[in-house]
Amino acid sequence: MIFKNKLFLFFLFLLLSFYKAKSQKQQPFVLVLGIAQDGGYPHLGCEKKCCDIAWKNDSLKKNTVSLALVDPETKSWWLFEATPDIKEQLNLFKSLTDGGYNYLPTGIFITHAHIGHYTGLMQLGREVLNSAEVPVYTLPKMKLFLETNGPWSQLVSLKNIQLFNLSQDSILKLNSQISIITFTVPHRDEFSETAGFKIITSSKKYLFIPDIDKWQKWDKNIIKEVEKVDVAFLDATFNDLSELKNRKIDEVPHPFISETIDLFKNTDTKIKSKLYFIHFNHTNPMLWDTLSQQTIQKKGYKLSKQGEKL
Ligand SMILES: [Zn+2]
Ligand SMILES: [Zn+2]
Ligand SMILES: [Zn+2]
Repeated sequence: MIFKNKLFLFFLFLLLSFYKAKSQKQQPFVLVLGIAQDGGYPHLGCEKKCCDIAWKNDSLKKNTVSLALVDPETKSWWLFEATPDIKEQLNLFKSLTDGGYNYLPTGIFITHAHIGHYTGLMQLGREVLNSAEVPVYTLPKMKLFLETNGPWSQLVSLKNIQLFNLSQDSILKLNSQISIITFTVPHRDEFSETAGFKIITSSKKYLFIPDIDKWQKWDKNIIKEVEKVDVAFLDATFNDLSELKNRKIDEVPHPFISETIDLFKNTDTKIKSKLYFIHFNHTNPMLWDTLSQQTIQKKGYKLSKQGEKL
């Protein structure tokens, strides 16, 4: 009898472990497909120390900033930003997920009309993939920009992509496990407004602000916004002013890592650990200098890594 009971408990344990493993496996997650500023890394025309090592070693090259949001439950995934490196990024996604998902994403979210964030759409056109109605989500000015300027307008007229309007501060429910909140941030808005996204999943919340002028110019408090999420991918284009010769600090339209760290210096370790710096310019030592990377990490902050799952 005791033996039977033990056997029963053993099978119950196995069953529970199986369901636990299954439920954990089905949670949505984010994959980092690129971490560099619009120009990628190495950078066109740069022969300095920063890019020299990456020109000589392919394994050091980094794609332009992009994320994949993955839902294993529905076998869907969404791409954040269509970068000039989209070809490498779709391939990277495929290898990171062992080809378990459709090659093309269920939808693409785009923050703004600077070349690192949307020009990858051209690969979906007639000249290359000739895709069919890939949903592309943008704010209204960005949508109008794509509809009214070639070559993007051809993607719309040939139905390679299908544009969907996002409205500011609205919630878009992608399925029962995932919602997206779109908001605007101050940035050089020549052709479009600039969006940031909050990704809300059944397991984690993510903030994605790859480009913003300065935290002080935003009508929201970045510390409070970081407190509300688990992972915050934040604009880290430049580390500090030393990368930009002869420029005043307030003329540079990005928050330096040094400024962001200064802003967060009195927050506790848990808050600091939510910061994942991203969108590194080629001059930013966080891309190529181990000592600088360690200094930031020792302070409790994270540097986004290409290929990383969060
Ligand atoms: Zn950018
Ligand atoms: Zn460089
Ligand atoms: Zn930009």
